[in-house]
Amino acid sequence: MENSKRLAVLGATGSIGRQTLDIVSRSDGRYNAVVLTAGSRVDELIELASKHRPRLAIIAREDLLPRLRQALQPLGIATAAGTKALAECVEADDIDMVVTATVGYSGLEPTLRAIDTGKDIALANKETLVVAGDLVNSRLGRSKSRIFPVDSEHSAVAQCLAGENHADIYRLLITASGGPFRTWPADRIAKATANDALKHPNWNMGRKITIDSATMLNKAFEIIEAYHLFGVPAERISAVVHPQSIVHSMVEFTDGAVKAQLGLPDMRLPIAYALGENTRFEGAEKHLSLEDYSSLTFEKPDPVRFPCLTLAHLALEKGGNTACIINAANEIAVAAFLEGKITFGDIYPIIEQTLIKTPFISAPVYDDYVATNSEARAHAAEIVKSLLN
Ligand code: NAD
Ligand code: MG
Repeated sequence: MENSKRLAVLGATGSIGRQTLDIVSRSDGRYNAVVLTAGSRVDELIELASKHRPRLAIIAREDLLPRLRQALQPLGIATAAGTKALAECVEADDIDMVVTATVGYSGLEPTLRAIDTGKDIALANKETLVVAGDLVNSRLGRSKSRIFPVDSEHSAVAQCLAGENHADIYRLLITASGGPFRTWPADRIAKATANDALKHPNWNMGRKITIDSATMLNKAFEIIEAYHLFGVPAERISAVVHPQSIVHSMVEFTDGAVKAQLGLPDMRLPIAYALGENTRFEGAEKHLSLEDYSSLTFEKPDPVRFPCLTLAHLALEKGGNTACIINAANEIAVAAFLEGKITFGDIYPIIEQTLIKTPFISAPVYDDYVATNSEARAHAAEIVKSLLN
């Protein structure tokens, strides 16, 4: 189609990637996926590429390239593999918008390259802003590229800010479901299994973010994300627990007015709002019936049972590479927890100890983030190992 917006969908086989492609399918040609990438789920990538017919499909794991090529070559779809191909693919002239739906630190380099080549970004990969939000913002300042948030809370804030003046913002209220352990006592949380933690009450998401929701580090990350996206001081961003996940976040203004965005917990709404550069997409499958909810409730989060929550303000107060260290330690800890090597209660202390062991850098440049990420991972891995003995 002539005026179709051409997308590179990074992490196409994941929860956000698939929902993005669902919107592409239902967009009557308004969107078109020209590049699809994935980590290791090659069969799923083949299935999606066969359906969406991108120009290029890339798999992170190089040993899976022959299989990808064999399946897609007959369809005239180019294939590639490896980290370099994943980062470079966003630079092509035929891409209008990059959807960053990979998980973890891997999102950073492609996002920076997309910014440097002036591509718009629909940003799901919050870790990019957590790890290096200052760097991302300084690169954005020199680029025509714009970031549209996909995370539901940040999309809600963007929707509340439509038509408002930035100077009138009093504070941002980021809602949190509270996760599967909201009502559990501390001793039970400490012993929770991966199965317990993977049962999110309201959202069906990838495994890593589901564990982050259970520790509530996800909410700490979202506070950091909001700080970098909206330029609101850290002390004016807070989390509020809202177990029904119907109010997706709120903005309070200086006159006392509070605006909220409500909707069913369906990520396709914020994804479509981002793809449309903060405009509405017709075609919701289901509409919210508020009369089905006898009450919408709000509570204060509990930093004692969920200490990871405190890491947002610690990271923003200290600045520098602090959040990068937290993210790296968490990626190692979550992977170890999912493999059954450590307990749920070990995750926070691993992050805490990694913060002590990894040198603080107050004004990191790109190479410092790369080095911090590797160093903090190595420290966290050592700590995990010491827990096994
Ligand atoms: P997911 O695990 O379902 O999917 C991750 C995708 O990234 C997969 O396609 C996987 O193949 C790919 N991938 C993994 N490692 C990779 C690597 N090293 N290089 C390249 N690709 C790699 O995750 P998800 O739930 O879709 O989350 C994606 C991002 O969106 C995360 O940053 C998450 O925090 C954020 N997010 C997700 C949701 C949600 O509802 N799922 C909501 C808000 C934000
Ligand atoms: Mg979110």
